[in-house]
Amino acid sequence: MENCLFCRIVRGEIPSTKVYENDQVYAFRDINPQAPVHVLVIPKKHISSIDGIDEASDTDLAACLRAVRHVAAQEKLTGGYRVISNCGPDACQTVPHLHFHVLGGAQMTEKMA
Ligand code: 5GP
Ligand code: ZN
Repeated sequence: MENCLFCRIVRGEIPSTKVYENDQVYAFRDINPQAPVHVLVIPKKHISSIDGIDEASDTDLAACLRAVRHVAAQEKLTGGYRVISNCGPDACQTVPHLHFHVLGGAQMTEKMA
Protein backbone atom coordinates (compact mmCIF):
# COMPACT_ATOMS: atom_id res chain seq x y z
CA MET A 1 0.00 0.00 0.00
CA GLU A 2 1.87 2.97 -1.38
CA ASN A 3 0.38 5.77 0.71
CA CYS A 4 -0.71 3.93 3.84
CA LEU A 5 0.81 5.72 6.85
CA PHE A 6 1.76 2.57 8.72
CA CYS A 7 3.11 0.84 5.58
CA ARG A 8 5.31 3.91 5.17
CA ILE A 9 6.47 3.60 8.79
CA VAL A 10 7.32 -0.09 8.18
CA ARG A 11 9.35 0.93 5.11
CA GLY A 12 11.18 3.60 7.15
CA GLU A 13 9.85 6.44 5.00
CA ILE A 14 8.32 8.05 8.09
CA PRO A 15 10.38 7.99 11.29
CA SER A 16 9.14 6.08 14.32
CA THR A 17 10.48 4.91 17.65
CA LYS A 18 10.90 1.16 17.26
CA VAL A 19 10.15 -1.02 20.26
CA TYR A 20 10.29 -4.46 18.64
CA GLU A 21 10.48 -6.00 15.17
CA ASN A 22 10.58 -9.43 13.58
CA ASP A 23 9.86 -10.81 10.10
CA GLN A 24 6.10 -10.42 10.46
CA VAL A 25 5.52 -7.47 12.77
CA TYR A 26 6.71 -4.00 13.70
CA ALA A 27 6.05 -2.31 17.06
CA PHE A 28 6.59 1.39 17.76
CA ARG A 29 5.58 4.10 20.20
CA ASP A 30 2.32 5.93 19.55
CA ILE A 31 2.95 9.56 18.62
CA ASN A 32 0.15 10.67 20.98
CA PRO A 33 0.44 8.36 23.98
CA GLN A 34 -2.67 7.79 26.08
CA ALA A 35 -0.87 5.90 28.85
CA PRO A 36 2.71 5.90 30.23
CA VAL A 37 3.38 3.01 27.83
CA HIS A 38 1.50 3.17 24.52
CA VAL A 39 2.89 0.96 21.78
CA LEU A 40 1.34 0.06 18.43
CA VAL A 41 1.89 -3.48 17.13
CA ILE A 42 1.24 -3.89 13.41
CA PRO A 43 1.66 -6.61 10.80
CA LYS A 44 4.23 -5.65 8.17
CA LYS A 45 1.83 -6.81 5.45
CA HIS A 46 -1.02 -4.38 4.90
CA ILE A 47 -4.36 -5.44 6.36
CA SER A 48 -7.02 -2.76 6.84
CA SER A 49 -8.37 -3.88 10.20
CA ILE A 50 -9.75 -6.95 11.95
CA ASP A 51 -12.49 -6.82 9.30
CA GLY A 52 -9.76 -7.58 6.73
CA ILE A 53 -8.15 -10.57 8.41
CA ASP A 54 -9.49 -13.08 5.90
CA GLU A 55 -6.69 -11.73 3.66
CA ALA A 56 -4.03 -12.29 6.33
CA SER A 57 -2.14 -15.48 7.09
CA ASP A 58 -2.59 -17.23 10.41
CA THR A 59 1.17 -16.84 10.83
CA ASP A 60 0.99 -13.05 10.58
CA LEU A 61 -2.03 -12.83 12.87
CA ALA A 62 -0.49 -15.06 15.51
CA ALA A 63 2.74 -13.08 15.25
CA CYS A 64 0.86 -9.89 16.17
CA LEU A 65 -0.46 -11.38 19.41
CA ARG A 66 2.89 -12.92 20.25
CA ALA A 67 4.50 -9.53 19.65
CA VAL A 68 1.97 -7.89 21.99
CA ARG A 69 3.06 -10.30 24.71
CA HIS A 70 6.73 -9.67 23.89
CA VAL A 71 6.29 -5.90 24.04
CA ALA A 72 4.45 -6.11 27.37
CA ALA A 73 7.31 -8.10 28.86
CA GLN A 74 9.97 -5.86 27.33
CA GLU A 75 8.23 -2.76 28.67
CA LYS A 76 7.95 -4.46 32.08
CA LEU A 77 4.17 -4.16 32.27
CA THR A 78 4.08 -6.55 35.21
CA GLY A 79 0.95 -4.95 36.66
CA GLY A 80 -1.06 -5.66 33.53
CA TYR A 81 -1.92 -3.96 30.30
CA ARG A 82 -4.79 -3.35 27.90
CA VAL A 83 -4.86 -4.35 24.22
CA ILE A 84 -7.20 -2.49 21.87
CA SER A 85 -7.80 -2.75 18.14
CA ASN A 86 -10.21 -0.15 16.84
CA CYS A 87 -12.14 -1.40 13.82
CA GLY A 88 -14.11 1.01 11.64
CA PRO A 89 -15.72 4.40 12.18
CA ASP A 90 -17.87 3.60 15.24
CA ALA A 91 -14.67 2.59 17.04
CA CYS A 92 -12.88 5.74 15.78
CA GLN A 93 -10.25 3.85 13.77
CA THR A 94 -8.17 6.59 12.16
CA VAL A 95 -5.39 4.62 10.46
CA PRO A 96 -6.69 1.88 8.13
CA HIS A 97 -3.82 -0.56 8.74
CA LEU A 98 -4.48 -3.22 11.40
CA HIS A 99 -2.88 -2.25 14.70
CA PHE A 100 -3.04 -3.31 18.30
CA HIS A 101 -2.65 -0.61 20.93
CA VAL A 102 -0.72 -1.89 23.96
CA LEU A 103 -1.46 0.40 26.89
CA GLY A 104 -0.01 0.14 30.36
CA GLY A 105 2.14 1.56 33.10
CA ALA A 106 -0.72 2.97 35.17
CA GLN A 107 -3.99 1.85 36.72
CA MET A 108 -6.78 2.15 34.15
CA THR A 109 -10.47 2.65 34.69
CA GLU A 110 -12.96 -0.19 34.30
CA LYS A 111 -14.70 1.81 31.60
CA MET A 112 -13.69 0.74 28.10
CA ALA A 113 -16.02 2.82 25.95
P1 5GP B 1 -6.60 4.38 15.74
O1 5GP B 1 -7.31 5.64 16.11
O2 5GP B 1 -6.64 4.11 14.25
O3 5GP B 1 -7.03 3.19 16.55
O4 5GP B 1 -5.09 4.58 16.16
C1 5GP B 1 -4.15 5.21 15.36
C2 5GP B 1 -3.03 5.63 16.27
O5 5GP B 1 -1.92 5.98 15.48
C3 5GP B 1 -3.36 6.83 17.17
O6 5GP B 1 -3.23 6.47 18.54
C4 5GP B 1 -2.32 7.88 16.73
O7 5GP B 1 -1.83 8.65 17.81
C5 5GP B 1 -1.25 7.04 16.10
N1 5GP B 1 -0.51 7.72 15.04
C6 5GP B 1 -1.04 8.45 14.01
N2 5GP B 1 -0.06 8.89 13.21
C7 5GP B 1 1.11 8.44 13.73
C8 5GP B 1 2.47 8.59 13.34
O8 5GP B 1 2.82 9.22 12.35
N3 5GP B 1 3.41 7.99 14.13
C9 5GP B 1 3.06 7.30 15.26
N4 5GP B 1 4.07 6.75 15.97
N5 5GP B 1 1.79 7.12 15.65
C10 5GP B 1 0.82 7.69 14.89
ZN1 ZN C 1 -0.68 -0.28 5.41
